[in-house]
Formats: sequence, structure tokens, C-alpha cells
Amino acid sequence: MSGVIVIGAGQAASALAAKLRAGGYEAPVTLIGEERDPPYQRPPLSKAYLLGEMPRDRLYLRPESFYAEAGITLRLGAPVTRIDPQARRVHLGEEALPFDHLVLATGARPRRLPAAIGGDLAGVFTLRGIADIEALAPLMRPGARLLVVGGGYIGLEAAAVARKLGLEVTLVEQSARILQRVAARETSDWFRALHQSHGVEIREGVGLARLTGETRVEGAELSDGTRLRIDLVIAGIGVSPESGLADAAGIACGNGIAVDAQGRTSAPGIWAAGDCAAFPWRGRQLRLESVQNAIEQAECVAANIMGAGRAYDPHPWFWSDQYDVKLQIAGLGQGHDHVVTRPGKRAGSVSHWYFAGPRLLAVDAMNDPRAYMAGKRMLEQGRSPEATEIADPTQDLAALMRAPARQTEES
Ligand code: NAP
Repeated sequence: MSGVIVIGAGQAASALAAKLRAGGYEAPVTLIGEERDPPYQRPPLSKAYLLGEMPRDRLYLRPESFYAEAGITLRLGAPVTRIDPQARRVHLGEEALPFDHLVLATGARPRRLPAAIGGDLAGVFTLRGIADIEALAPLMRPGARLLVVGGGYIGLEAAAVARKLGLEVTLVEQSARILQRVAARETSDWFRALHQSHGVEIREGVGLARLTGETRVEGAELSDGTRLRIDLVIAGIGVSPESGLADAAGIACGNGIAVDAQGRTSAPGIWAAGDCAAFPWRGRQLRLESVQNAIEQAECVAANIMGAGRAYDPHPWFWSDQYDVKLQIAGLGQGHDHVVTRPGKRAGSVSHWYFAGPRLLAVDAMNDPRAYMAGKRMLEQGRSPEATEIADPTQDLAALMRAPARQTEES
């Protein structure tokens, strides 16, 4: 038996390998990773790790002894050069490894600012791996002038860390508002005010025209003609799924590697999971960039490799930490037509509830874990509260969850 090869050695790969062993899979399991570190968690990179509050080994998902004891081979610092789906082989240069099942858990790579506008100058960073943070962290000194390009989670989390470390921060977002891709106007407004109260200069509807400097970045010209003197740039301008190997092997790709409900790609014996995979969900192909998705989809694929025949049907959730705010998100808000605001019990806590007609789609909870838990449960049960009940802070969320069900989940 050739066993399972996983390309990628991140959160999805680690979850998949552990699930295979926990499920009694006995053939060889090999994780092949481009980076030299064993599987690690990425969320702290733009938060506690960048802030210098977390040691490197706490990033690792499991001690290296776990893999040895579980009989999971780690091939790290080993870029795969080619997949041969017909011969069922993975090539690492001259070396070819056979597989029974191959799982593509290749993740996503950050978009980079083009070299033509100065994106390759020293002092310009993206945040995706440990190496990015280790190169950036020593430069995050008090008084340094940081330009953050992009007002998504990466940009906002980096801005919060930079302010805590005493940098001067300007953030530009080319869309009309920060968090436009992932959140409603109410949540964007809330986070804009939060960052402004911490001294971040936020410019929305403004892109970066170019960066200037000889070898190291020294200045920026914005699309509205503004010129800034800067020492550092962090680009958080989104990610692209890593589907190059699959594409070159003739495996169907669209926005990522296309898989069916069980996680199978168009090539027999080849599966995909995590940030790189687009799966069928409520009538569309969805690609999620989240820890929850990496773990749950990978565990579903592991079960299906062992014959479970299970469809992957997640209830998405996300979180972000900025300053002393914990944002927790349940559901996906795209397609909402109104948002209901519910004040929390504690000062500064609030939640935004997204509805499409009577149907609850998502909840953003800022320092309000009770609202998050209630919203998450209702979404899992396919129930929707009345908007008027949610807007009334005297209505007990626990009682609303116990109320007779008003099923609004689409089938
Ligand atoms: P993102 O959510 O796609 O946000 C990128 C933002 O940058 C978008 O609003 C985009 O606007 C804007 N942008 C793009 N090009 C720009 C330019 N040239 N000038 C100014 N703004 C520009 O991606 P991200 O924040 O980079 O995060 C990367 C991935 O990591 C995402 O999957 C994210 O969800 C994940 N992540 C998650 C967390 C969390 O859940 N807490 C934390 C960090 C990262 P347009 O839409 O107009 O292009």
C-alpha cells in the first residue's frame, strides 16, 4: 500500500493526518511541506506573535514527537514540482513518490504589490508565514511610520499591533470602506471608529499609486495624489488559492481547486481541503479562508478516504482580535438586505445580526460572546429570531433560543 500523501503541511494537512490515524488508517501517511517548520497555526502571526507575546514553539500545532509516534512522515522544506494523476505519483524534482490517495492542502498565497509600483522594495511585507513575521518584527519600532495597504483582517490586525508597539499608522483601503468583502457597513463603521480612537489614520476609497525609494521604501503616493513619508509597508490585499500544481496536472480549477461534496477533485484518488478548495454549498461553489474550514473539511476528507461517504456541510465561523476587542462571526452575511444592531450587556459590546428578509444569515459579535453563541446555535438549527426581538436588549437570548422554532433555513 502506498498510502496517503498530503501536499501542504499546514492546519488542514495536520488535521487530516491526525484524523486518519485516529480512524485506524494503517498505511503510510506523508505530509510534504514547502516551509521548514512543522505544521503551525497562522492566526497568531498577525496578532500575538507579531506583538512578541507568543514564543515560536507555541505556534506549532503538535509536538514533532506526535508525528513520529503516529507514524506520520513529515517531508519539510520539500517543494513538490509535479503531480502525475494517471501514474499516481508526486514528483519532488528527480524523486517520485507513489500514492493511493493524494490530498491537496496547499492553502493560499498572499497577493503582492506589483514590482512595477515598488512592491519589491525592501521594507514591504506580506504576512503569511513565520518567516514574514520574523523579518518584520524587528522593524516594528516605536515612531516608525507604517503604511498598511488593505483594510481586511490582515491589515486591521496588523494596524492594531503596530499602534500597540508605538508606530505611526496610515491604512489605505481602495474599496469604499474597510472590511467591505466580509462585513456589513455597520461592522465597518464600528471598526473604523475603533481604529481611529487608537490613532490610526484610515483612508477609504483610496488605493496605492506607487511606492518610492532607491532600494528601501521611503515614500508612498496614493491614488488621490497624497504623498506620505514611510518606513514600512504591510500589504494585506487578499490571497489567491494555491492551485498551480492541480491546474498543471489537468485537475479542474475555478476559484481554487474544484471538489465535490465529499472533497474529491476531478482526478480519481485526488482530494483537496482547506483554503485552496472550492466546494458545493447551498447552490454555489464556496471557498472559505478560515481555520474552522481547514480543520473540518480536512477531517471530512480523511473520513471519506476511509469510506465514510460524508458530505461536507459547514456552519462557517471566524474570529479576529484587535486591541482589546474580540470579534466573533457566525455565518456568512453575503446577500443580506438588512442588519439589526443589538447592544450588549457590557459597555462596548454589541452585535450585528444580518438578515435576508426573515432569514438570519450571520452575526458579528464585538466583545459579546453570548450573542455570538446564540446566533451560532440559531444558524446551526436553521432558526431565525424576529428582528424586533433581537433589537430589544431586554429580550433574553437564551429564551429566544428556546422559543418555538421558526424554521427559515433554505433546503
Ligand atoms: P481580504 O479580506 O481580501 O482584504 C484585503 C483588502 O485589501 C480588500 O478590502 C481589498 O479591497 C483591499 N485592497 C486590495 N488591493 C488594494 C490596494 N492596492 N490598495 C488598497 N486596498 C487594497 O484579505 P486579507 O486581509 O489580506 O487577509 C488574507 C486572508 O487571511 C483572508 O482570507 C483573511 O480572511 C485571512 N485572515 C483572517 C483573519 C481572521 O479571520 N481573523 C486574520 C487575518 C487574515 P478590494 O476588495 O477592493 O480588492
